[in-house]
Amino acid sequence: MHKTALSFLAHPDDAEFLCAGTLIRLREAGWTIHIATATPGDCGTMTQDRWAISATRADEARRAADVIGATYHCLDERDLMVVYDKPTVQKAVDLFRRVTPSLVFAHALKDYMMDHEMVSLLARAASFGYGAPNASAHLRNENAGIPYLYYCDPVEGIDPLGREITPTTFVEITQQLARKMQMLSCHASQREWLRAHHGVDEYMEAMKRLGARRGKEAGVQFAEGFVQHRGHAYPTDDLLSQLFPI
Ligand SMILES: [Zn+2]
Repeated sequence: MHKTALSFLAHPDDAEFLCAGTLIRLREAGWTIHIATATPGDCGTMTQDRWAISATRADEARRAADVIGATYHCLDERDLMVVYDKPTVQKAVDLFRRVTPSLVFAHALKDYMMDHEMVSLLARAASFGYGAPNASAHLRNENAGIPYLYYCDPVEGIDPLGREITPTTFVEITQQLARKMQMLSCHASQREWLRAHHGVDEYMEAMKRLGARRGKEAGVQFAEGFVQHRGHAYPTDDLLSQLFPI
């Protein structure tokens, strides 16, 4: 199989919170990594207009991707306004067509805010359909096909009703935690805002808390948790557990 992984999540910094440790491990194993966001994070500020913060955050996302030699993409949708409609599905399918992923990381189907849930649906639709010749005007790579699909943890590992999620799959990231933190720290605009607001470095602490919790469940120091999509037509063997056994 060809080794191309795509993280397709809603906002700049979501990948760095939820699956960057696993992306680092994949990169170490020789995979090509793509990090895509639906929006440039245009509402992630208390002081700047949407154009200024979008430019800042797209640059932060690009620098975080650079840490592991990944390629950054942005669908240029708007924060709070990501929807599942024909034009947006087409943009997602076109993205997948250009990237040709064999492994996809998406948001949890149920998460704390709707952009995440909509992008989860977009990722699911695009992963299923991007290999169909007529689905996109972009050139079809011969490797195009239904990829392994994993849903990242919802934020804080809980669904919108506060119920804890049980992962199907754990990936240990103890050795990758420092680089994951380095990637997350590229998002300085968000980190500084939270630090000023909370009085502690909550940005880093929140990521480490979930990593430690998943690590404890997996019997290691730090881990990331995922739920694998195992419905009709998708690969159902647990690729991540095979690549990175605990
Ligand atoms: Zn987000």
